[in-house]
This record gives sequence, structure tokens and C-alpha cells, in this order.
Amino acid sequence: MRRFPIALLSACSRLVLGAAQSADFPVPVQFPIHCNSTASLFRALEASLSPDAAVFYPGSEGFQTATKRWSELESPMADVLIVPATEDDVAKTVRQAHEYGFPVLAFNGVHGSITTLGGMKRGVAISLRQLSSVEVAEDGKTATIGGGTASKFVTDTLWEAGKQTVTGTCECVSYLGPALGGGHGWLQGHHGLVADQFTSMNVVLASGELRTINSSSDLWWAVKGAGQNFGIVTSVTVKAYDIEHTDWAIETLIFSGDSVEAVYETANKHFSDLDPSVINWSYWLNMPEVDPDRPVILFYIIQEGVTEVDPMYTKPFRDIGPLSCEAKSGTYRDLATWTGIAVDSPPCQKAGLANPRFPMYLRQYNVAAQREVYDIFAAEVGGDSPFSASLFMFEAYPQQGVRAVDRETTAFAFRDDSLLAAPLLTYAPAGKEREDEAKRIGNKLRNILRQGSGREELHAYVNYAYGDENSKGWYGHEPWRQDRLRELKRKYDPKYRFSFYAPVA
Ligand SMILES: Cc1cc2nc3c(=O)[nH]c(=O)nc-3n(C[C@H](O)[C@H](O)[C@H](O)COP(=O)(O)OP(=O)(O)OC[C@H]3O[C@@H](n4cnc5c(N)ncnc54)[C@H](O)[C@@H]3O)c2cc1C
Repeated sequence: MRRFPIALLSACSRLVLGAAQSADFPVPVQFPIHCNSTASLFRALEASLSPDAAVFYPGSEGFQTATKRWSELESPMADVLIVPATEDDVAKTVRQAHEYGFPVLAFNGVHGSITTLGGMKRGVAISLRQLSSVEVAEDGKTATIGGGTASKFVTDTLWEAGKQTVTGTCECVSYLGPALGGGHGWLQGHHGLVADQFTSMNVVLASGELRTINSSSDLWWAVKGAGQNFGIVTSVTVKAYDIEHTDWAIETLIFSGDSVEAVYETANKHFSDLDPSVINWSYWLNMPEVDPDRPVILFYIIQEGVTEVDPMYTKPFRDIGPLSCEAKSGTYRDLATWTGIAVDSPPCQKAGLANPRFPMYLRQYNVAAQREVYDIFAAEVGGDSPFSASLFMFEAYPQQGVRAVDRETTAFAFRDDSLLAAPLLTYAPAGKEREDEAKRIGNKLRNILRQGSGREELHAYVNYAYGDENSKGWYGHEPWRQDRLRELKRKYDPKYRFSFYAPVA
């Protein structure tokens, strides 16, 4: 195993220092870990992991790089970062960490932003990025993806082989991060969520056992929507499809804030049941070069299998009178660039900013509520607001593939909803007051949308969650869902080892 700069002794010294300087390095809260066990764990790992595994200690460049988060709010803290080189390394790391009383957390694309991650004050971070691979089966019907593979690598490798599968839309997130919480993607109208593509997986359980599971396991239900709670997935085999359409097109319309009612009334009328080949997103954001005073509405209409979006979809929106209109065409692989979520696009960067989101699923737009949240959002992010780089996201994906899967067969609970809305409050971290302010604004906006939906229950996409939604908000309000999750948790992870990401309560 490769060990990088800061040695064992300094890791121990840091713990002692931490006890005296809790602001710099928190005093352990959930596990009584002592310096002796830290040293013993490190020795045990060094002795047992494969030659290409690596260990990085806090303060080293490798540690900083691999643990840098997309959202600097309630970040998890670790004593050591292990970078396994094999699936078996992951099992050994989990086994030994637990033996010595350390909690563990998988780090993958490091875009997880839920505040429950901050519950990890000590422990072992396991970066999966060496487990990056995509292998298409000989019959072309499935592909096996390593547990630490980035979404873009999956898309690009399959594309070269004339294949596709459902992945998250954003190039920089991992394949499995989105998938374990359900996973929304461009192709879901045809094939369902990312998790709906799983055919089998290798997973390291809390016991440290590396097990292959498939639909015959009782855990199968749980890993499709609440997977972060049950283990570390070291590889997964998923359905692969022939590429049917190479062409894709987009029309990007920009509207001023005056058009909120017209835009969302028209969206309700024309996009309430999207064709599987059409996707509609809109973002509200400040674009001072377009409107110096208020956020604009950036409205995307995307269509598969065409070189120009069909006017039957674009004309009703053009008729509203956008400030601008731009059409592009290309392939599936251009979508992330067109919508600003490619690896080099600003939203993909880890720029030291806090990025909490406050998601909720909706069935349709309540136009009066859209106006009310627009006006509040515009006031909160306008002028010299510390939140001026924020976005309000409205993602309308086609639902046919998602609804074709029996809603009771997966832990993902919200198959009947159509729209994913979320304010994303971006700001430079500046202490608790600003964090509280972001939380207040985000929840206020979300509550207006919730009231407007006429629904008491909060349906929140777990992978966009802020962290205060609770288990029902993430995994569904039906008592049987909560009971089933708790039962499986008791069976597979009775000590709640995997409980930093949206924990089952
Ligand atoms: C710019 C951006 C775009 C996004 N686009 C989409 C999208 O198109 N569709 C969508 O559904 N979501 C999307 N998301 C949300 C995304 O699903 C979550 O942020 C997700 O947690 C990111 O996973 P990650 O591996 O990149 O982050 P990480 O922080 O590394 O992982 C998040 C958590 O997932 C768990 N985890 C990760 N890998 C494994 C594994 N192999 N085994 C077990 N547990 C694991 C761990 O608990 C970890 O804490 C987007 C987020 C961002 C920031």
C-alpha cells in the first residue's frame, strides 16, 4: 500500500491538538476513538491492502484534493483517506475500520451536499476513484461499471461501443452517487431511473463482507433509492441499450421575470405529460448582461432524434415573446455542455462555495406560487446579496419509463411526481449567520411551492436534499416504506455504520 506525506505520528498528534482546539478539528462525538486505535488501524490497513491502494493523511495534498467538496457546508471530517485499488480493499477497509471503532464514508464524485454528512466528525474516508471502469458484456445487453466511475466516463465508453444507459445528466458526478438515490437522467423517459437499470451489484456490507446481490436479495429493493444506507457498492452491472438516435437538438429561450405566469401556464398546458423524447428545464438566475435588475428565466426545450426541436414544442413559448432564442443541434454527448453541466462548466467546479438545495417534487406548476417565489427569490438574490450566484431549478423529465416500474418495487418513492423544483442557494461560506439565512430563504421558497401544490407531505429528491427533510421526506410517507427500511437496516447494518447520507431513521 502506498502511504503519502504525513505519517502516523502526525495523525495522532493532530487528534491531541484537536481535543484542545475544537474549532480547528472537532472533538470526537459519536465513537470513542483513541490514538492507540488510530495507530492500530493504520498499521492493520498498511499490512493488508493491495500494493496499489493508497492512504493520505490530513494536511497532505492528496487528502485535500480527494476530499474537496462541491458544497462547503457541513462537510464530513476524516482522520484518514483510503484509496482502495480493488473491491477487496474496500471490504478490508470497512472491516478493519469497524473493528477499531471508526465510522466510514464513501467519497466518489464528492458532490454530495446534504447537511447530514456533517455528522461525520471522525473516521475513515474511502475514495472510490481507483475503481473506475466500464466493461460492456459480449452480448451487448449489460455493462459492468466500477464503483468509482464518473458519469461521463460511462457515457463516453458506452457511446464508443454504440451503447447507452441511463446516467445522471451532469458529467462531473459519479455514476453511483445519483443511482443509489434513484437517479434522474436524459433517458429516463424510455428506460426509467438510473437505479432501474441495475441487474446485479457487488456491495460491501457493514459486516465487511463483499457480497454479490441481485433481484433475489431482500436488499435489492433498498439499494434502488436508499442505497447509501446499506453499504459501499464496488461494482454494478446495468442494462445497456443500442443507441437509437444519434441526433439531439435544443432550443434555449430567455425570458424576463415579467413572463413568469405566461411561461408556466404554457408549460402546464404543453408539457404536463412530456413525450419520452422531450425534456424541459428552466433556471432562474441573475444574468446582468441580459437583465441588470432581476433574475431571468433560462428555458431549455430538448428533443431526441431531431436536428431542430419540433415547432409544436417551441412555438407556444416563442409566442410569449422571449428576450432571446437560440437553437443548437448535435449528439447526446453535447447535452451537458448545452445545459451548463459539463465537466468544465461552472456548476461542476469545486470553488469553495456552499451550495445547499431545497428540493421538492411537484405534479404541475401552480402559477400564482411561481410568481410569489419568483418575487421573493429576485429580492433575496438581487443587488449586492451574498446569494447573487444562486439558481432556482425546475426540471421536467419525461416520466413514462419511471412510471413503467411498479412503485412498490423500489425504495425510490416518488414515481408519480413530474417536476423537480429546487432553489440552490450559492454563497461564500461566512459563518453560521449566513448559513441560517440561506436555510431560512430556501425553506421559505420551498414552503410556498408546497402550499401551492396543495399537498401537506414533502416529497424531496434525496440527492438534492438540504438535510432537514427527514426519512419520510426522502424515502416516502407510507408507513410500510419506513418499516421496511428500518427492518432492513436492523438486519444489514444494526449498528448504523452507514448513516451519514440521509440516514434511515
Ligand atoms: C452539478 C450537479 C449535477 C447533478 N446532476 C444530477 C443529475 O443529473 N441527476 C441526479 O439524479 N442527481 C444529480 N445531482 C445530484 C447527485 O445525485 C448527488 O449530488 C450525488 O450525491 C452525487 O454523487 P457523487 O458521487 O458525485 O458525490 P459523493 O459526495 O462522493 O457521494 C454522495 C454520497 O453517495 C454515497 N456513495 C457514493 N458512491 C457510492 C458507492 N459506490 N457506494 C455506496 N455509496 C456511495 C456516499 O454516501 C456519499 O456520501 C447533481 C449534483 C450536482 C452537484
